[in-house]
Amino acid sequence: MTVTEIRNPATEAVVATVPASSVAETDAAIERSVAAGERWRELAPGDRARLLRRFAAAVDADRDRLAGLEVSGAGHTITAARWEAGNVRDVLDYFAGGPERLLGRQIPVAGGVDLTFQEPLGVVGVIVPWNFPMMIAMWGIAPALAAGNTVLVKPAELTPLSALRLAELAIEAGLPDGVLRVVPGKGSVVGHRFVTHPAVRKLVFTGSTEVGRQIMAGCADQIKRLTLELGGKSANIVFADADLERAAATAPSAVFDNAGQDCCARSRILVERSVYDRFLALLEPAVTGLRVGDPADPGTEMGPLISAEHRTKVASYVPDSAPVAIRGHAPDGAGFWYPPTVLAPVSRTAPAFVEEVFGPVVAVVPFEDEADAIRIANDTVYGLSGSIWTENLGRALRVARAVETGTLSINSHSSVRYWTPFGGVKQSGLGRELGPDALAAFTETKNVFISTTASGSGA
Ligand code: NAD
Repeated sequence: MTVTEIRNPATEAVVATVPASSVAETDAAIERSVAAGERWRELAPGDRARLLRRFAAAVDADRDRLAGLEVSGAGHTITAARWEAGNVRDVLDYFAGGPERLLGRQIPVAGGVDLTFQEPLGVVGVIVPWNFPMMIAMWGIAPALAAGNTVLVKPAELTPLSALRLAELAIEAGLPDGVLRVVPGKGSVVGHRFVTHPAVRKLVFTGSTEVGRQIMAGCADQIKRLTLELGGKSANIVFADADLERAAATAPSAVFDNAGQDCCARSRILVERSVYDRFLALLEPAVTGLRVGDPADPGTEMGPLISAEHRTKVASYVPDSAPVAIRGHAPDGAGFWYPPTVLAPVSRTAPAFVEEVFGPVVAVVPFEDEADAIRIANDTVYGLSGSIWTENLGRALRVARAVETGTLSINSHSSVRYWTPFGGVKQSGLGRELGPDALAAFTETKNVFISTTASGSGA
């Protein structure tokens, strides 16, 4: 049997080994998931809701352990990992309200009654990246289960531990066997089988745009339903009339949280030219003051990168000739460390300004006016997130409407609330997760007409 070694990114020590599933094992899991679906779908809505609430309670009771797995298995800071465990619980709690609210409609028609039903799809495959292993898994799991589907999760090769723990908690909470199963293994084996197996009726894929494109092409064969959450290159737009102190103080967390391994990272900072130098001066202490180190220490603000290979990729965006304006600190020795790095002035064609770095590297460029800011912000294939800093309400809303992105914040950097929609436009994705509409993405609408014409009337 093939196994994958899981390393602590802060120490490089092996913390676990996890078996890598084969195609035959994946097929067996899919068959069990199909079988479990028959009972899960028939369960009374209130009973399904109760089981999901119990699952949420089990997650709540296990928060410390789940957070610990995200620290040792993914290098997250303990502060962030605790928040993520709370988010996993909240997402479950929120969608536990779904089963009794999957309402159909009655549509006026002649000669009878027309009803719609929100039917489950069947088996849903959730393919997860390594950057937010348990949170992203749950954004797919919870609404899919609430809508009456069964779920198979394919965690990233590097970070399967927290998803495996979630599957144990589901069983402890009383979810029937086979309703939620985690199938660890390679993307090219397990993930690919989710794409090709006809019994998997929908995929939720979060990961790189490159792999998302392949998955979308594969799903076309069976017209398989698909939600895609892909890469980003989001802009943080700072106008001259903004609260510059706040904008500069918060800009590092908007890009360096999770060591920049965040699809929503605001990795392009656009600053109105008249305040460009002042903004950089204010940014410097915020970057050099970042506490980078042991993720298990509650005082730590930034941890390591996920792997040595990923660090090499991040470093390639900062060659010796790169215009490094500010560089923060990072520990020496074991661990996949990379210091927070600010590039300025940057050419708008530089790879660090155009491509998703997925590390603690941010590029700062000046803009001339509102139209110029919008043009630069939209000059990307991506459109996931972004921020706008201005005290002018009209401008804030004008720019928010003009920037082509799925999730924006004004005078803040928030992206994710479990009760508001999340997702991207352009090559950042397809569909929305979380929020009031997520359940619908895991159902098909069935229309049923019942004739009320008296028998023998011929209608
Ligand atoms: P990745 O695309 O390499 O892998 C993601 C998942 O897909 C992994 O589980 C992997 O094993 C699997 N996979 C790989 N090849 C596959 C194939 N051929 N068929 C099926 N599955 C396959 O991404 P990553 O490096 O793990 O994560 C980083 C990327 O994820 C970044 O681009 C980031 O922006 C993106 N991301 C997006 C969001 C969002 O919500 N938009 C959130 C987090 C991460």
